Amino acid sequence: MLVKIKMGGKEMIFKPTAIYFEKDIENYELGKKLLEKYKDVPKIEIENHNNIEEMRSKENSEFLKMKKNLIIGTRKTHKFVENHKVSDYLVPYTSSGCIASCMYCYLVCHYNKCAYMRLFVNREEMLEKIIKTANKSDKELTFEIGSNSDLVLENTITNNLVWTIENFKDTEKGKLTFPTKFAYVDDLLPLDHKHKVIIRMSVNPEYIINHVEFGTSRLKERVEAINKLVEADYEVGILIAPVIFLENWRELYHELIVYLQQNLSQKAKEKIFFEVIFMTYSYVHDAINKEAFQNSIEIFNKSKMTGRGKGKYMYQTDIRKEGEVFFRKELNQYFRDNKIWYIV
Ligand code: SF4
Repeated sequence: MLVKIKMGGKEMIFKPTAIYFEKDIENYELGKKLLEKYKDVPKIEIENHNNIEEMRSKENSEFLKMKKNLIIGTRKTHKFVENHKVSDYLVPYTSSGCIASCMYCYLVCHYNKCAYMRLFVNREEMLEKIIKTANKSDKELTFEIGSNSDLVLENTITNNLVWTIENFKDTEKGKLTFPTKFAYVDDLLPLDHKHKVIIRMSVNPEYIINHVEFGTSRLKERVEAINKLVEADYEVGILIAPVIFLENWRELYHELIVYLQQNLSQKAKEKIFFEVIFMTYSYVHDAINKEAFQNSIEIFNKSKMTGRGKGKYMYQTDIRKEGEVFFRKELNQYFRDNKIWYIV
């Protein structure tokens, strides 16, 4: 499938401006495939995907241009981090960063390192570690493989999700999960996933998608994708995230929940679960957004947020509480029988 990405309201096919690659990727099947796929794209050899000097010196205003590059290397650290939400472990997987540009993106930890998409071609090694950990455990573990990127988007470049599901489905134990903001799920529908994959579609009001989540799928497309995934018998969740407390947030999120109620299939309404996450923000986002996204809306409201160390901000406690009461009430009204995993 060709990657189409929305830029300035238009759908365009993604073609990287340049490929930065570690020499070593030539020793991996996926590395060879990607070099062949992008054989007519200019290439720059790099020592290490973690430290690309040329990128470090760029201005914030070049943020969107930088996202048009692809970085390809191997993942060297494979540390699993314990998690206590939908999954048991957060697992570093086949990519990091993204070619879309959500203004709050939690991956923008340090502009010069995390903005652009990095693909890691040593997928066999990464999946093998997950399978071994799953099989060794007494309990059924769930692994979050999508916390560093958007794997549905990445799949349109690498086919890694299809590869992952096909190579994981026959394992003795364990489940995989990942969130996405993309509707490009058609390649996943015919797979025999054996109920080992939980897909969580992230949604926001259409106004926020249009003004903040640049380059992602529209709300209508995401809801259609949920219906298709449920039909293909995947376990599917809805992640209302990140909640942004704009002036008219109650109205926006009420409309979103009503839209879901009206447009999800009956089968989806019977099966889906919810997670709700409030937005966090940082001074790095603020600096980039001011310079890279001119004419965008202001999503950082100082009067509603509070510092939580290291230049990061979260909504104040009373606002979070108000949000929690609101979402519990709305979801109980429109989705009375659906589980809410958490509201944080
Ligand atoms: S789709 Fe996800 S990973 Fe990509 S920019 Fe948006 S929040 Fe970040």
